[in-house]
Parts: sequence; C-alpha cells; structure tokens
Amino acid sequence: MNPSDNRLIFATANPHKLEEVRAMTLGGFLVESLKDIHFTGHIPETAPELEGNALQKARYIYERYGKPCFADDTGLETAALAGEPGVYSARYAGAEGSQDEIAKANMHKLLDKLSGVSDRKARFRTVIAYVDGNGKAHLFEGVVNGKITDSPRGTEGFGYDPVFMPDGHHLTFAEMTAEQKNKISHRARAFQNFSQFMKGT
Ligand code: IMP
Repeated sequence: MNPSDNRLIFATANPHKLEEVRAMTLGGFLVESLKDIHFTGHIPETAPELEGNALQKARYIYERYGKPCFADDTGLETAALAGEPGVYSARYAGAEGSQDEIAKANMHKLLDKLSGVSDRKARFRTVIAYVDGNGKAHLFEGVVNGKITDSPRGTEGFGYDPVFMPDGHHLTFAEMTAEQKNKISHRARAFQNFSQFMKGT
C-alpha cells in the first residue's frame, strides 16, 4: 500500500476523541486530524438526525480534500420524550457559557421535563459515517441502553454523564472511571464496529 493511501481524516475538533481513536487499531490506517490537514474552518452540522449530521461532516471534508474521512455524532434519546434531546443534545437548553455551564443547563432541562415521569428509559447512540476513497458512505452505530436518574450523581466524564445510568449497573457514567465507561460506552461500541470493518478492508 502506498503510504499516502493508508490515511483517514477524522473530522472532529475534539482532541479527546482524536486521542481515543488513535489508541485503536483501525486496520493499519493512520488517523489524521483536521489540524494535520490544516483545516481551520467550521464544518456545518445542520441535519435533523445523527446519521445526517455525521455524514454531512465526513462528506464536507471528503469533498474538499478528496481523502477518505470519517465523523461521529452522538445523542441522548429518551423514551418518554420521543427521543429528545437526540440530535440537539449539545445545545438542548440553548445556554451559553463554559462547557460545564452548558452541560448543567442541559441536564437540568432534561430533569425538569422528566419530573414526575415514571418511564426513565434512555439510550446514548453514536453514529459514525465513513466516506471511503471512492466517495462511498458507510454507517456504523453504537448504543448503550439505560435510564435517567432523578438527580445528577458523580463528577467524572462530561455532558449528561451524571444523569445516565447504564442498564446492569448501579453507577451513573459520572460515577465510573473513564476506563469503566469506555468499555461499555456508545462511542466505544460504534468505534469497535468501525474498526472491525476497517480491519476487513
Ligand atoms: P457529540 O456528537 O459527540 O459532540 O455529542 C453531542 C452531545 O451529546 C455532547 O455535547 C453531549 O452533551 C452529549 N454526549 C455525547 N457523548 C456523551 C457522553 O459520553 N456522555 C455524556 N454526554 C454525551
């Protein structure tokens, strides 16, 4: 394989995700960041579902650089609220401020909407879109089922972690170590599926 043929661009601005993905073996492919390719613009994310958003991000970069590219998008989907906040998870409460303040406002909006609601079922869902060297799109999914707690618990993680308790566990994601969470998380599962596919190519 020509060395320039074994590179994949990860269309994310999140350095933690990049680090996580670089620790995985993607069938011998090397993961390049947006920084590596000197992309400094803003990638639009305007689709009404996770699949559309992930695909929009991967295609946006593929079309500009002509190199294989992947992108991910995640949402928390609750049964009682017909899948809310879903694709709008990051900006559910419309709050501004630090990441921490935004996350707190989002969690409190969710807890308020579920106040007095007995059906607490929820799932985190990650979709990865991969646009290969021929421009063909492939989608991968990772899901973790669980429930929304009555109040936030724990200090680890980010986003909705303090209010999400995965099935079969008595701890919220924010009460788990990163290692525990990363073994069962939606993102880990989606990336395992993607990795399996890349190993077969
Ligand atoms: P993204 O698509 O990975 O940027 O995720 C969108 C939003 O979903 C984030 O801003 C968080 O609010 C939420 N989210 C994604 N992954 C997680 C997670 O592992 N724990 C808690 N919240 C998450």
